[in-house]
Amino acid sequence: MTFESLGLSSPILKAIEEKGYKKPSIIQEKSIPLVLKGKDVLASAQTGTGKTAGFTLPILERLSKNTSKGKRPIKALILTPTRELAAQILENVKEYSINLNIESTVIFGGVNQNPQKRKLKSGVDILVATPGRLLDLEQQRALSLSNVDILVLDEADRMLDMGFLRDIQKVMALLPKKRQNLLFSATFSKSIKKLASEFMHEPILVEAAPENSTVDKITQKVIRVDKIRKTDLLIKLISEGKWNQVLVFTRTKHGANRLCKKLEQKNISAAAIHGNKTQGARTKALKGFKDNNIRVLVATDIAARGLDIPLLPHVVNYELPNIPEDYVHRIGRTGRAGAKGEALSLVCVDENDYLKGIEKLVGIKIDSREIDGFEVDPSIPAEDPNPMRKGRGGRNGGKSKSNNRNGKKPNNKRRRY
Ligand code: ADP
Ligand code: MG
Repeated sequence: MTFESLGLSSPILKAIEEKGYKKPSIIQEKSIPLVLKGKDVLASAQTGTGKTAGFTLPILERLSKNTSKGKRPIKALILTPTRELAAQILENVKEYSINLNIESTVIFGGVNQNPQKRKLKSGVDILVATPGRLLDLEQQRALSLSNVDILVLDEADRMLDMGFLRDIQKVMALLPKKRQNLLFSATFSKSIKKLASEFMHEPILVEAAPENSTVDKITQKVIRVDKIRKTDLLIKLISEGKWNQVLVFTRTKHGANRLCKKLEQKNISAAAIHGNKTQGARTKALKGFKDNNIRVLVATDIAARGLDIPLLPHVVNYELPNIPEDYVHRIGRTGRAGAKGEALSLVCVDENDYLKGIEKLVGIKIDSREIDGFEVDPSIPAEDPNPMRKGRGGRNGGKSKSNNRNGKKPNNKRRRY
């Protein structure tokens, strides 16, 4: 299968060649012809499988056929949950459209609106946006969505997780009724299917991998360790393994900052990427990591979502995510493009339920072990039998010499990280 046989024409084929793509990925093979035909497409494939080109290339092909003369109204709208992802998609759109007369831009929050407004005023065919800034600028009449022919929801599952449902619905109300809808997602949850049924028109379902399965080429391991010793263990693993590029996930923004500080104290260069960081800081951290100037990138789930970090050999779950699907997204950052990757999870006694949920989702029991010198302290109770008791130290009332239980119930509510 070639890109040419999928129905793309030479300006786009040339651009793809320049990017070094030899042949379409499975999800591209399946989605490109459908999008070209104008169908509504509901596509699911793992992170790193080339979904962006899966919708961008056929959109460019369609738009290049009827470029409007004079003022350009927005013809295609790509909605995405995070700023980083939005910037990255725009970068791809620009690369793929290098030989076409197509204008594109990106808008997201956290930065000055004025340059965005100026660019919009000059006319764009393709707009990449995060929902909040889009609605804001629409309300200010800095843009109009009344000519949009194609809507893309990228990372749709994450948009729902982040609480963007209302915003998405508001955007929908601003679009023409007759349009093409494309929904791309790494996983297919019930809420995604429900959303799709609300706004899509006879969508065709395409999947590149079985639902929610993890990639075979990723080696998954669990290391059992007490909570208070996780940092020391991580430092040992990074130093002794001579890992030069490792992505570490924490559950909270504060946890990410704390871990970063401790790594730096041990002369391991690290940067955190999460929702409280300025756009500048996030971009700088990601660039430093990609350029190999920063050894460890510590991220929360939402910040890391969808980022294109190629050929990452190591992903570490410093804490397990409380949503099993996030585990699949996290480990999807390794083992890309045929490379082998390793996903390590540092699991303490508090996280047993999370682990069970994850194993149920991925359908395997993840190989679990301890590291010499970091054995789990058996004096710590395995489970708090009475969730009403919130005392420090769990069942033994904080008398344990190791206080790796804080007595708090895991918080299952989704938050903006
Ligand atoms: P996803 O959205 O599925 O997570 P991306 O669209 O971000 O994946 O693509 C992941 C990486 O794969 C990017 O670096 C992209 O340039 C590259 N890529 C996409 N399609 C191809 C292809 N057909 N051949 C080789 N590399 C590709
Ligand atoms: Mg993507």
